[in-house]
Amino acid sequence: MHVLVTGGAGFIGSHLAKYHFDRGDIIHVVDNLSTGSLDNLQSMLGSPRFRFDQADILTWDGLGNAVGWADRIYHMVAIVGVKKVLADPAAVMSANMAGTERVVRAIHKGGWNPQLLIASSSEVYGFNDKSSFAETDAVLLRSGGRLRWCYAVTKLADEYLGYAYAHQYGLNIVIVRLFNTIGPHQVGRYGMVVPNFVGQAVNNEPITVFGDGTQTRSFCDVRDTVFALDLLASSPAAKGEVVNVGSDQEISIKSLAELVVQRAESASQLHFMSYGEAYGMDFEDISHRRPDLTKLKTLTGFEPKWKLVDTIDDLIQQARAVKRSPIFTP
Ligand code: UDP
Repeated sequence: MHVLVTGGAGFIGSHLAKYHFDRGDIIHVVDNLSTGSLDNLQSMLGSPRFRFDQADILTWDGLGNAVGWADRIYHMVAIVGVKKVLADPAAVMSANMAGTERVVRAIHKGGWNPQLLIASSSEVYGFNDKSSFAETDAVLLRSGGRLRWCYAVTKLADEYLGYAYAHQYGLNIVIVRLFNTIGPHQVGRYGMVVPNFVGQAVNNEPITVFGDGTQTRSFCDVRDTVFALDLLASSPAAKGEVVNVGSDQEISIKSLAELVVQRAESASQLHFMSYGEAYGMDFEDISHRRPDLTKLKTLTGFEPKWKLVDTIDDLIQQARAVKRSPIFTP
């Protein structure tokens, strides 16, 4: 199978590329390397079954040919991370919406019909206060210009672009709402909690818990996530559908911090910070975020394999290995 991964040097994209590479598929990755890294693709670089283009999805002139070549496309290009969204909302709006529009338009214009998976996000549920979110639940976003919601608006727009092209032109599109995903290659610099906590714990630094730590999240290992995405992209019943993807094992951020400290046998203490301190501005956090996975399980039979504690142990081990490797100083 020919697999195109846009944003394929990023966290989830690089795992998708490797997953298919290991199954013998031919992989084409396009990424502008703004947040992704070639390090994430190291094991495939140089292989005749792997091609990489450093290009921006907004201007890439190879897009038409690439979508015509592909049997399956994972459209993973997005600017993500709370800190990044607050710092550069204009770039977020363009990359996330215009990028998706270019992809679906290129497929339609060429008369192609690959399997296309569009990555959306649990952010679209907004500040809906339900204890778990099903795909038919209402979307609650603030009106009146809060930067925090820029990302959710772009992802909702992507979803509706997907719907429009699936229903009007019959394109083979599935839209996934990704919940919190963790694992190797994820970086903490844009605010993601697990890489931050793991990095802090292995360095015996204070663990930065934002707010009072009672907010909860459900974390899914990226290796489970990519398997679910493959199942969905190949499922005829998922065509034209929006589907939650994640884990429904919930944990508070304070308990997560304690778990990471304990597993790393770290001397770190928990350091509680206000959102103002953490983000440099007032911030409306989501208090609970857990997916209802009924639809995913009905469509695919998917069951996550990774337990949170195993992913954390794996990440701690990898962070320690990086720390031990010699650092070149000129
Ligand atoms: N968070 C935290 N410390 C950090 C980074 C994040 O306490 O160093 C909190 C953040 O406020 C949120 C949760 O952890 O309540 C998950 O944050 P992340 O940005 O990873 O995901 P999202 O908020 O998008 O679900």
